[in-house]
Amino acid sequence: PRRTFKGRSLPVIDTIELYHVAMPLIYPWRTAYGSDAVIESVLIKMWAGDAYGWGETTPLAKPTYSPEYTGGVYHVCREILSPALIGKKIDLGETLQQQFSWVAGNFFAKGGLDAAWWDLQARRQNQPLWKLIGGTNQVIDVGADFGVQDSIDMLLGNITGALDAGFKRIKLKYCRGWDVDMIAAVRSTFPDPVFHIDCNSGYTLDDLSMFKKLDQYNLAMIEQPLMRDDLVDHAELQQQIETPICLDESITSPEKAWRAIKIKAGRWINIKPARVGGVTQALEINRICEAEGIPCWTGGMLESALGASVCKALATLPNMKYPSDVFPSTRFYTEDLSTPPIELSGPSQMTLSDTPGVGAEPIPERLERQTIDRAVIR
Ligand code: MG
Repeated sequence: PRRTFKGRSLPVIDTIELYHVAMPLIYPWRTAYGSDAVIESVLIKMWAGDAYGWGETTPLAKPTYSPEYTGGVYHVCREILSPALIGKKIDLGETLQQQFSWVAGNFFAKGGLDAAWWDLQARRQNQPLWKLIGGTNQVIDVGADFGVQDSIDMLLGNITGALDAGFKRIKLKYCRGWDVDMIAAVRSTFPDPVFHIDCNSGYTLDDLSMFKKLDQYNLAMIEQPLMRDDLVDHAELQQQIETPICLDESITSPEKAWRAIKIKAGRWINIKPARVGGVTQALEINRICEAEGIPCWTGGMLESALGASVCKALATLPNMKYPSDVFPSTRFYTEDLSTPPIELSGPSQMTLSDTPGVGAEPIPERLERQTIDRAVIR
């Protein structure tokens, strides 16, 4: 359904504030791509008259997870995308996306502005974002995730802690040197719990025999086993193994999702709103997946509570069938730049608030302190 204002004249978007921030982590986040000690993010405040909305987007500081990186996203938002919105009256997410249709790629940059627009609209309609987008589950399931640890023993200890805390599923980062032996140890110690692995594009079809070995460990899915552009190879791999493949980095747009489904490149899709160009695009991908019988789940990029709240909102949609990658603020951040902080409301659970809009925004003093560059476009 298309959602628009009824009988209320929309003010034009007149000002966009951009903040390039560096948010310190408690400890570095280690994946197949390397190690990050801070998360660089772009926060966006979009004004229309006296109304405003906040958005956040972070592809990480270096172009590893995607070809975009935070400094580049900040530049594209400042020089190209924000000027395309100033002076426009926009009543639909699709209309906002049309303003960007001449810009190739740059999905994270588009996604931050799209998210800010949705917060603005939800606030103006006095509705929480999750209800505005058709969410039905005010309480969502969330999972536990573990990056590469110093030792298998440390990992097993952390998994015990997560299971004791009631987490319904556990995701393990997976890369060369932290691979089949790690899974074998985990599965022999914990025969029953739901586990899946995330390869972050680390492998190729040359690793087929390794992936076949993984079938015996009853994993819920293998997230992004191959390179992001290798949809055809993913389809080949999925044919050869029983464990479902979940596409993450590969899915950057509704068109990509449609093609991936068409060639059977995976059986799950992870939707990160920032990666796919925003809430508008995330909703469209989810709509396509639902129509094609492909379940989804959602996650984020270690955003502050602002960006994570968008992920929470998406997780309330009926086609979201697997616990989300949304984490309590205290899991990663010494202090969350945004408020209210992300918190569990029960074991493996978070509850959405009825606050109009996305339900979180930056704390001015922390935003001031963590900002490394800023711009105002009028
Ligand atoms: Mg992933």
